Amino acid sequence: MGGYLITGATLIDGDGERPGSLRTEGERIAAILPADVPDADLADLAARHGCEVVDGRGRWLVPGGVDPHVHFALPVGDTVTVDDFATGSRAALAGGTTTIIDFVTPARDQSLVEATEARLAEAARSSCDYALHASATAWRSTTAAELGACVERYGLRSLKLYLAYLETIGLADADLFAAMQAAAALDLTVLVHCEDGASVSQRQRALVTAGETGPAAHLRSRPPRCEVDAVVRALDLAARAGCRPYVVHVSTGGAVVAIRAARARGQTVLAETCPQYLVLDENAYRRPFAEAAAFVMSPPLRAPAERDALRTAVWRGDLDVVATDHCAFDRRQKDRGRGDFTRIPGGASGVEHRLALLYTLGVVPGALTPSAWVRLVSAQPARIFGLYPRKGSLAPGADADLVLWDPAVTRVIHAAEDHEVCDHSVYEGLAVRGRAERVWLRGTEVVRQGEILAPTDGGTFILR
Ligand SMILES: [Zn+2]
Repeated sequence: MGGYLITGATLIDGDGERPGSLRTEGERIAAILPADVPDADLADLAARHGCEVVDGRGRWLVPGGVDPHVHFALPVGDTVTVDDFATGSRAALAGGTTTIIDFVTPARDQSLVEATEARLAEAARSSCDYALHASATAWRSTTAAELGACVERYGLRSLKLYLAYLETIGLADADLFAAMQAAAALDLTVLVHCEDGASVSQRQRALVTAGETGPAAHLRSRPPRCEVDAVVRALDLAARAGCRPYVVHVSTGGAVVAIRAARARGQTVLAETCPQYLVLDENAYRRPFAEAAAFVMSPPLRAPAERDALRTAVWRGDLDVVATDHCAFDRRQKDRGRGDFTRIPGGASGVEHRLALLYTLGVVPGALTPSAWVRLVSAQPARIFGLYPRKGSLAPGADADLVLWDPAVTRVIHAAEDHEVCDHSVYEGLAVRGRAERVWLRGTEVVRQGEILAPTDGGTFILR
């Protein structure tokens, strides 16, 4: 008994859209009802099941967003991202994302099992549902067995590997290949951060030596070539190792070309981009340090022509997922890199605005259908990371993770109003359309009119 009956909405999932009503019971979706069920019958149904009726007319009902790329409570150098699982997850819910996937990033001498235990303890503060990707930051004789233990004990289904950051968490090719072989044996999806680490390091040193120390040098240290070369290399290694690669945060048209070429050769390649690469561009680095540092992230924002190529790739379906790579540092933290851009902690917030940004950019002008939008932000990440149809669908039996979307409202993003705790936003002042008016997580209403109702630590680890 109990639950909600949401009536008269446009129901949109990854397969299409139709008018109708949806009933929840407990934590699940109990039924989908066609639009021609008479009002009297709906009232009778609600009375029989003790449902609260929600008038969904003029609204869209979509499955909760799945953001498979966020970094909450991530230590970087001697600092930590400002959003932890408590604040980051609430920001996610406010924007209509009900599931996030974060990362286990072991210290180089730490076992993956121990790191997973520690990460699960941190993630227990999450108000939205969550999963974790494993990462291999070193490859030892024992790492494959540790990975196997993480799959067996915690249900992990994916492994992150870095071609950049060779000094800290990146792997050289021989280790990348060994890690990919181990992932293939365990049927894990392999997330690859594709930037050529050695070439980036060389460029950074040369720029600093030449006195180019501001945020604009960050851009010059990581030209498009660094990404494209790394994508080609990662896809080649993955093909030889027999694993299924997922290229994170694609930022260039050249990377899309490389991905399309690999697919044309018959390789399965999954790929993601992020709103910042679709909405913003490299001109941000021309601003004074305090403003420009906010946009320092890796890969960097690109030229408008690259951004446009990336948009086309998303509209065409070349990219499977739009995730955020949410990784927030406040102004004080960014300020550590004044005088040396290599010391600016890289990353920006965004988990709260992903659905609205892609809706505004893609759906409003008609470049994306509403259903394609749902695929990019919910259904496809859920499928790729083994959560579908429990997450990312409106099918009876699925978790009642629901967003009642107001498609018409216009608002302006202001960091001061965000649930993310960062003191600035790379989207400050941007006008967006659409809003998650009400949000349910496993049948419990967690957001209403921008107000978070969710209990702290109400999220569940969904892999085990
Ligand atoms: Zn990331």
